[in-house]
Amino acid sequence: MGKLILVIGPTGSGKSVLISYIKENFPQISYLASYTTREKRPGAENSAYQFLSVEEFEHMKEAGEFLEWAQFGGNYYGTSKQEVTSALSAGKVVLKEMEVQGVRQIQEILTPEQLVIMYIDAGSWEELERRVRARAPITEEELEKRKHRYEDEVPFKQTADYVIQNLPGELEKAQEQIRKALEEVIHSVS
Ligand code: 5GP
Repeated sequence: MGKLILVIGPTGSGKSVLISYIKENFPQISYLASYTTREKRPGAENSAYQFLSVEEFEHMKEAGEFLEWAQFGGNYYGTSKQEVTSALSAGKVVLKEMEVQGVRQIQEILTPEQLVIMYIDAGSWEELERRVRARAPITEEELEKRKHRYEDEVPFKQTADYVIQNLPGELEKAQEQIRKALEEVIHSVS
């Protein structure tokens, strides 16, 4: 039996940089696609997504094809049940980044042995706020939304299988923690 690794990381936690590190350094871990109704972002890395119309998404949802799905920022996001099931029964380690409504659903469905929760900790809300403001202009309203999301995500730090510390200027340390964690997960399935 394989394992599904779910990566949770608040906005500004450096999650996407760490996921690129995993993709480059762990070719034996495959990244599961997300089904979504959101628009493609120009120039962005779109390979993690299967873009669907709302009708197509709702059709899949009604056909029970999603292991989990959520509405986030006005769009649908979901994970294919069949893709997870076949990866786990083939003994593979698969990884996905997800917001917490989806994580909660998956925790109800998979056994703790099938699931690994990895939480990216980049410090307090004040630290994240500072990073987000430095990255690009942001409205107070959007910032407030992100704060709510942070408050929804931070409890997972207590129960995560791995907490990766990604502090400013310490990317290499975070990568090292990820490397150790993933080696442990890969070892546990082989
Ligand atoms: P974005 O549209 O910015 O790529 O992603 C928005 C949010 O949706 C992020 O928090 C991301 O982790 C989450 N997300 C991406 N794919 C999925 C998915 O398949 N299921 C759920 N529940 N959330 C997802």
